[in-house]
Amino acid sequence: PVKAVKEWKYTTCNYCSTGCAIEIGLNEAGKIVTSRGHAGADVNRGKLCIKGLLEHELFDSPGRGTMPLMRDKAHLPFQPTSWDKALDHTAAKIKEIQDKYGRDSFAVVSTGQLLTEEFYTLGKLVRGQIGTNNYDGNTTLCMASAVSGYKRSFGSDGPPGCYGDFEHTHCLMAFGSNLPEQHPIIYWRLKEALEKRKFPLIVVDPRVTMLAQFADIHLPLTPGTDCVLINSMMHVILKEGLQDQAYIDAHTQGIDELRALVADYDPKTAQHVCGISEDMIRTVARLYASAPAAMSIWTMGINQSTHGSDGVVNINNLNLITGNIGKPGGTSLSITGQCNAMGTREWSSCSGLPGYRVLEKEKDRKTVADFWGIDESFFPPKRGLTQTDIFPAIETGQIKGLWLVATNPMTSMPNQPRIRKAMENLEFLVVQDVYEDVETNQYSHVYFPAAVWAEKEGCHTNTERRVNLTRNVLPAYADSKPDFWIFNEMAKRFQDRNAIHFPEKPEGAFEEMRKLSVGTGRTLDISGMSYDRIEAARGIQWPYSEAQAQADEARVGPAGATQMLERQDFLGNPRLYTDGHFQTDSGRANLIPVRFVNNNECPDAEYPFWLNSGRVVEHFHTRTRTGKIGNCNKYSPTPYMEMNPDAAAELGLEHQSYVRVVSRRGDAVVMVQLTHRVGRNMLFIPFHFHDCVNRLTLGLLDPYSRQPAFKQNAARIEKI
Ligand code: SF4
Repeated sequence: PVKAVKEWKYTTCNYCSTGCAIEIGLNEAGKIVTSRGHAGADVNRGKLCIKGLLEHELFDSPGRGTMPLMRDKAHLPFQPTSWDKALDHTAAKIKEIQDKYGRDSFAVVSTGQLLTEEFYTLGKLVRGQIGTNNYDGNTTLCMASAVSGYKRSFGSDGPPGCYGDFEHTHCLMAFGSNLPEQHPIIYWRLKEALEKRKFPLIVVDPRVTMLAQFADIHLPLTPGTDCVLINSMMHVILKEGLQDQAYIDAHTQGIDELRALVADYDPKTAQHVCGISEDMIRTVARLYASAPAAMSIWTMGINQSTHGSDGVVNINNLNLITGNIGKPGGTSLSITGQCNAMGTREWSSCSGLPGYRVLEKEKDRKTVADFWGIDESFFPPKRGLTQTDIFPAIETGQIKGLWLVATNPMTSMPNQPRIRKAMENLEFLVVQDVYEDVETNQYSHVYFPAAVWAEKEGCHTNTERRVNLTRNVLPAYADSKPDFWIFNEMAKRFQDRNAIHFPEKPEGAFEEMRKLSVGTGRTLDISGMSYDRIEAARGIQWPYSEAQAQADEARVGPAGATQMLERQDFLGNPRLYTDGHFQTDSGRANLIPVRFVNNNECPDAEYPFWLNSGRVVEHFHTRTRTGKIGNCNKYSPTPYMEMNPDAAAELGLEHQSYVRVVSRRGDAVVMVQLTHRVGRNMLFIPFHFHDCVNRLTLGLLDPYSRQPAFKQNAARIEKI
């Protein structure tokens, strides 16, 4: 099919947060026939993983929504309808519910999958017109703990490092992050750096993940005990004088409290809690602290925990006391999950107001209200419910109506039996999704068919704060519409509440974001970006001010058909906090002592196994897209459960036999895969499949981020 390509179109992958630049190939007839990595893009340098390589198969995949649908009651047959009728009916129902039960009785839950201009526009509609405070994204299931931890330590969200740090670090510690399967191209960048220049790779994970198999040191810690391990490492560092005292004195606050707390975490004692030997704790502490530059990365193994926010704070503590923030190869880098989770953090208003502004600050409320031309009192003075609190509020009847945008809680939320009951309690549910057959749509009253990825235009921000562009390559499928169009149409029906101007095109929304990003001392500055500049540079990292853009243009010429900027090699990668000045009131980073509290659902006599969940490389999230793509599905067609052969032998179980896994929430039938990747008391099940592991998970919540603990649950096995 490559031979048949007549034209290549530039775009960005719409799956994970790596942010690979993709070109999609169109044939003579204008049909998309293939995808390839863009060789000139700094992120992926021509590479793609299996999902990106097959992404062009999405456009006419089975189950795509073709027209708006409505019905009086969930589970009855849908009736096709027109967009006008579906939008009018939805707006009327939202108003009816709000008039009857109050503005906050209607909730909106969005995603990390939309384009940034769509997040911004939805936020403007929800915060500025619909006026509910119960608005969140499914990002609460994914990276809310990273956001919360960054804010607590540094005074602001925003990962301070970049992929270029791999090329300059002298020691890398990965916590609960399985890059080869979760972020294959970030892994490839790491591997390339390791091949050029050897440095120790330390992987902390209860499971022998693919990344752990490539590590120099693997620390298979007891689930949920990362705080103990890091406290104990800091104990060694501070006791042996390995810290960067000059950095601590100049740029942090709270060292005395931190020192007092970690004094209790002698490796001799800590080893019995975290399961890592005293000698090994000392070895990794010394390796990390003595490296000229050391970096930490993490993903869901830290975030999806009852103390996810504390885990992030503690990783930040480790990097602050060793002077590893804001320098080449020295950083604390959260590897985000979804392709545009960063875009929603920056611009969606899910957790506050656009541009990292918060509802709790009067100045922020006033800035945004003035910019949108509405009364500041329309905004609530503090954030409402998160996604994980919205479903219990549906259960109790506090929330009566819900609009779900590109998210599938009937597979993704923990404790599915409870979520199912909550969904039945809704008076009105709108599902907006690319696919009509998404599981959650069984419960809806209205379905909005959405356009997919390159059928629309806008930006993504990836893990390293790089804003990249997706161009509109194809018209939307059948009568589906870009999410941007759907939000704009809905906004027309709420002009009676607040008459707000909504730009007609995504580029107009980007222009508003650009203007809102200018502010004294803010890290999130995109004022120097434009669609042409982003495309010419194959992605630009923020902060990127207008002054910087002008300096770059003076150096290499204006944006045009050729590349505007020299490729953003390492020296061109901006980092945050390079001057040691943080976004806290004092300008110093907070060292926050974190005491370990064992509040997980731990294995016991009745439920003797730790149950863990995670990803496989072929699938993304709840398989709404990858479950439809030939090879992704062929390589990974069914759920399975990893189990240690010794544990299986004790129960008389064989490889590929089927068993019932039971937790206090429910049960699921899965096929056993015998492997030493998991220890004797551990089970692992991929989370992508419907009616599977999330029937079992408990999902206790982190008190700061409200993110659920997907990875620490107790379960037992029953033979069938
Ligand atoms: Fe897409 Fe992520 Fe794969 Fe890159 S690594 S091609 S962004 S799924």
